[in-house]
Amino acid sequence: MSLAFDEYGRPFIIIREQEKKKRTKGLEAHKANILAAKTVARLMRTSLGPKGMDKMLVSPDGDVIVTNDGATILEKMEVQHQTARLLVELSKSQDNEIGDGTTGVVVLAGALLEQAQKLLDKGIHPLKIADGFERACDIATKRIESIQEEIDIQKNNNEFLKKCATTSLGSKVVSKCQDLMADIAVKAVLSVADLDRRDVNFDHIKVIAKTGGSLEDTTFVSGLIIDKDFSHPQMVKEVDDAKVLILTCPFEPPKPKTKHGLEIKSAEDYERLYQMEQNYFTDMVKRCKDSGANVVLCQWGFDDEANHLLMHHQLPAVRWVGGVEIELLAMATGARIVPRFEEITPEKLGKAGKIKEISFGASNDKVILIEDCAHSKAVTILIRGGSMTICDEAKRCLHDAICVVRNMIRNSNVVGGGGATELACSIAVQTAADQIEGIEQYAVRAFADALEEIPLALSENSGYNPIDYVSKIKQEQITEGNPFLGVDALGKGTTNMYEQGVFESAQSKRNQLELATQVVKMILKIDDVISPAEYD
Ligand code: ADP
Repeated sequence: MSLAFDEYGRPFIIIREQEKKKRTKGLEAHKANILAAKTVARLMRTSLGPKGMDKMLVSPDGDVIVTNDGATILEKMEVQHQTARLLVELSKSQDNEIGDGTTGVVVLAGALLEQAQKLLDKGIHPLKIADGFERACDIATKRIESIQEEIDIQKNNNEFLKKCATTSLGSKVVSKCQDLMADIAVKAVLSVADLDRRDVNFDHIKVIAKTGGSLEDTTFVSGLIIDKDFSHPQMVKEVDDAKVLILTCPFEPPKPKTKHGLEIKSAEDYERLYQMEQNYFTDMVKRCKDSGANVVLCQWGFDDEANHLLMHHQLPAVRWVGGVEIELLAMATGARIVPRFEEITPEKLGKAGKIKEISFGASNDKVILIEDCAHSKAVTILIRGGSMTICDEAKRCLHDAICVVRNMIRNSNVVGGGGATELACSIAVQTAADQIEGIEQYAVRAFADALEEIPLALSENSGYNPIDYVSKIKQEQITEGNPFLGVDALGKGTTNMYEQGVFESAQSKRNQLELATQVVKMILKIDDVISPAEYD
């Protein structure tokens, strides 16, 4: 596409290979865009909330993913339509910024688009709608600020952090053991958090999954885990107060670098060669022992001979440790990586409180735990689950819960979950709409209706009659003036989310509103779509 000027200097657009392009303009473009985006959003509606359904996605090569996480569903759906892709991006940005609320944000954007379409049908200009939505979003975020409650995250043994993590986990596959998972998420984040700076370094939280066992066997380790075992079955399985030697050279006698032959003509020659090799091995093991090391981690393999000698000298060792893990271990334990046996010195050893090998069930799978490392607060979560599909989903769920706890540390304002906040905002926007003059008031009112979509979807997914249920709690919110009344999705007998302990981060809610409004505004401002014809 290029811009050209006619003889009077007026600009016009030349579309290259015109016949191969497809062009949708004006109202038609608006409607087509809205329809595509709405279709994607409608798909996510049934996944919202604790009673939401999961989606099964099959990749072209047959891999199966079962998930409830909005961002993952949209990413794996491989949406082609250009406008619908904007919603995929929307959920991704919520995931990057906040980490949770990825389904909610798309459902909200879908509801806004639905309302926008009605307004377009009434003949209201898209820009007026966009402006009205922006104004309404401002009112809603202000309402969130007025109803949010700052909590003391450390009170009652981090009670609120656990509640927020539990709310996030409640809608996922792992809800069966949500308390355990929430506990683990809180522990993991608090162990690496810098509470003064209100900062959390995610690099220090490692999540690994091992199939076998059940979700309840998921454990938290304050240290690192490497997916290896000690090189000899008879080595000691547990070392307290470990002094770790990290080697990047193999436990083998040096090999000549150039090609040449070695002739052995007599039994004595062979005996001498064997002895020499033995001396090498003994020397290597002695150097390790002399440095004071009581565990050796090696990036390479060792000869059986060396393995035997190490066992014989009570020096437990691990071989074939990956390069990345070597670096992590070196950082965590404060060890210096040693590339040659001649360079081993006591100062180069790292320290850890305990190193032990653990095995799982009958599968004989083993891992090595390195706990209480001297130099780092790194922690690991070991997820167990019946199959890789469950482990993968549990990993995604934990990621969400960890993000929620991190957000709470950064900003400890909470609002009610279960659609209570959206309903409170909707009421505020509706009241404000009455004061607004002009056409914009229609858009503002439509925004209020769209906000109700979240409690509606939640109650529908929970098996209530949505309109009936939501109008009831809306009435209660207005008469009682309590913005914590929401959908009792789990049938606990109260609509008060404060009593149920269903909390969400205020920042996450604000972010959802702002991001959804931004994308809807963007879609509304598109009035011309030029795309290659084969895209349809
Ligand atoms: P998202 O990916 O957007 O986090 P979820 O499927 O996790 O979507 O659903 C989150 C919604 O479910 C939020 O609106 C939250 O308030 C609500 N929710 C979570 N737990 C409960 C609960 N126990 N009762 C009522 N609503 C809940």
